[in-house]
Amino acid sequence: MRVTLKRWLASGLAGLALAAVGSASAQGAFPDKPIVLVVPFAAGGPTDVVARMIAIPMGRALGQSVLVENTVGAGGTIASQRVARAAPNGHTIYIHHMGMATAPALYKKLSFDPLKDFEYIGQVVDVPMTMLARKDFPANNLQELLAYIKANKDKVTLANAGLGAVSHLCGLLFQTQIEVDLNTIPYKGTGPAMNDLLGGQVDLLCDQTTQTVPMIKEGRVKVYGVTSLKRLAALPNVPTLDEQGLKGFEVKVWHGMYAPKGTPQPVIEKINGALRAAMQDPQVKQRLAELSSDVPPLDKITPEGLRTHLEAEIKKWGPVIRKAGIYAD
Ligand code: ASP
Repeated sequence: MRVTLKRWLASGLAGLALAAVGSASAQGAFPDKPIVLVVPFAAGGPTDVVARMIAIPMGRALGQSVLVENTVGAGGTIASQRVARAAPNGHTIYIHHMGMATAPALYKKLSFDPLKDFEYIGQVVDVPMTMLARKDFPANNLQELLAYIKANKDKVTLANAGLGAVSHLCGLLFQTQIEVDLNTIPYKGTGPAMNDLLGGQVDLLCDQTTQTVPMIKEGRVKVYGVTSLKRLAALPNVPTLDEQGLKGFEVKVWHGMYAPKGTPQPVIEKINGALRAAMQDPQVKQRLAELSSDVPPLDKITPEGLRTHLEAEIKKWGPVIRKAGIYAD
């Protein structure tokens, strides 16, 4: 009996010790396989460009590859739903732009809640936009564009990446300011929209500088203005839309990194450390500067920084969108 009890105690203690080692290594081992970074728009577009730029240094910091997955459709909401339902173990993370804040007002039925279904890792990057046309479009500057649109408004087509995409919001702002409704063509991201602009199948596109600066510099598209209130260092000869008379025209696209709700805090901290390392990587910083995109201050690349910003943006956009009466069923 004594022996049995001793054995039982010994095996129990060994079991406890093993369990302790097991849980320590489960936490300590993260990540023990590649991490999937979900992008809500098509490959080759601006969000994808940012994701692929930071995936490599993040992977270096985490000691595992960070693989980009494009889950496209419905202005980014299909990807948000996919991530909200993924296993909360740190192996699925998500980058999305301000569409995360506009979705609750734009979509009547949303199968996820940006404030309840995610953990927050940090803000990523702030990117201005540019208003572009296909290279052989007849108008050579904004004044000519406005005149052309007035005379041909039924013919002109404007691409976007779906309801809630920033290309959609920028296009709406543009149409509201010039008081004209254009024919809009939705794509699954502005990567494919840009391909059609280059191919001449669509006329106009408002898109982030993370994709457009090289196209503008190589003269592959026409540019009418930037959506920042000041000219951009990377495009000093391109006027702002504001300075050309579209007063107050400003769109700056902020991005955030998320994980499914319930992802353990030590794992979130580890991913946050990798994100911060990526945002301070000299090559990333240089490339973002070439694309006139800003790295947020370090206190914003935090879970609290992102959560606070997201809450404020949901409050800001909700009434604007509801007033405009734009939504999807
Ligand atoms: N420009 C974004 C992208 O394709 C989509 C959007 O317009 O929000 O990455």
